Amino acid sequence: MEFAYTPDQIALRKHVRDFAEAEILPHVMEWDEAQTFPLAVVKKLGQLGYMGAIFPEELGGAGLGYIEYAIIIEEISRVDASVGLILAAHNSLCSNHIYLAGSPDQHQRYLPKLATGEWIGCWSLTEPEAGSDAGGTRSKATREGDDWILNGGKTFTTNAQYADVCVAMAVTDRSASQHGISAFIIEKDTPGFRVGKKENKLGMRASATGEVLFQDLRLPDAQRLGKTGEGFVDSLRILDGGRISIAALSVGIAQGAYEAALRYSKQRRQFGRPISEFQAIQHKLSDMATNIEAARLLTYRSGWMKDNNQRVTKESAMAKLFASEMAVHVCDDALQIHGGYGFIKDYPVEKFYRDVKLCTIGEGTSEIQRLVIARQLLKD
Ligand SMILES: Cc1cc2nc3c(=O)[nH]c(=O)nc-3n(C[C@H](O)[C@H](O)[C@H](O)COP(=O)(O)OP(=O)(O)OC[C@H]3O[C@@H](n4cnc5c(N)ncnc54)[C@H](O)[C@@H]3O)c2cc1C
Repeated sequence: MEFAYTPDQIALRKHVRDFAEAEILPHVMEWDEAQTFPLAVVKKLGQLGYMGAIFPEELGGAGLGYIEYAIIIEEISRVDASVGLILAAHNSLCSNHIYLAGSPDQHQRYLPKLATGEWIGCWSLTEPEAGSDAGGTRSKATREGDDWILNGGKTFTTNAQYADVCVAMAVTDRSASQHGISAFIIEKDTPGFRVGKKENKLGMRASATGEVLFQDLRLPDAQRLGKTGEGFVDSLRILDGGRISIAALSVGIAQGAYEAALRYSKQRRQFGRPISEFQAIQHKLSDMATNIEAARLLTYRSGWMKDNNQRVTKESAMAKLFASEMAVHVCDDALQIHGGYGFIKDYPVEKFYRDVKLCTIGEGTSEIQRLVIARQLLKD
């Protein structure tokens, strides 16, 4: 076992932190209040290679592993989780589905543009009637000669309004159940493709979440991604990796909230002394720091396993479950340490508190993570 970061990983963390503090931090509240998608920053992240962190250099990516990817998401989310979420949906959902299931032609056509941030990607699995039960997808794709005709709609798609390309799942053979759902790559200007309502959210407000609609959308078979009927099964594999990014997002938010609380506890004086001298506050800080470290280790371990081509279904679900639930508690404690000031928008913790809740919901709720873990435990 080796628990030390490599010199490259230390340098990467510093680089991402410096970038986030210089380019993102000054705008966090302005973007949150106005629900501004930070397009210019996303483009800069592309130039830095972070929009294609996990893809090979020959496809325009940075050629990094999942531990480095987790470090990037963590450091960005320590400052603004919305930007972390934009990165996560783009990298480990949309681009990664094309990378894992795509043909060489699809790789060449899409990955260099996505990995450099020239194009933004989104990934649409969830539907109004098919959330946790994504196998209940209703959007359908009907074969017509060499083409597919898509009809239906998706909800809650991250990056929807800004995406140049969308990977979406649709039923191609209803009788084949979970082996009857296929994935398609859709470019935004394809007739019949439309982005619908942008959601007004509790948190993650600088990320865009919205509907994606298909009406008699005609796609050549070359836009089908992976084997016909295997889009749902591939989606589960994609989510195995994606959950590492949500775990990292959770660790980053918790770290940001914890640092804010630690700082505040040393400055805020009550009863003639800093509140950090009260044991009740010290215990909170100790528990926060300990739990963040435990979640970080689970996250990096699943990243390490992924980099070593091991199956991470159980481990990434464990990391995501523990890290997201931990982060919700840490943000709650961070706000409590701020007292009334934690409730006020002049301090950063109220935003961490709002943003963090998504982590127990997106890419599978905590209940679904427990179900995934239990299935693996019982199988073993
Ligand atoms: C901000 C945001 C961004 C998102 N981004 C994307 C995206 O980019 N792409 C995408 O495809 N989706 C995205 N999602 C959708 C997200 O993955 C779903 O919201 C999530 O999977 C839950 O589905 P649901 O909202 O329909 O809840 P439901 O499935 O309706 O769940 C409601 C409640 O019932 C529980 N429940 C459901 N089934 C079970 C069960 N079998 N056992 C126990 N409890 C159960 C759930 O845990 C939850 O508590 C996003 C969501 C949000 C809010």
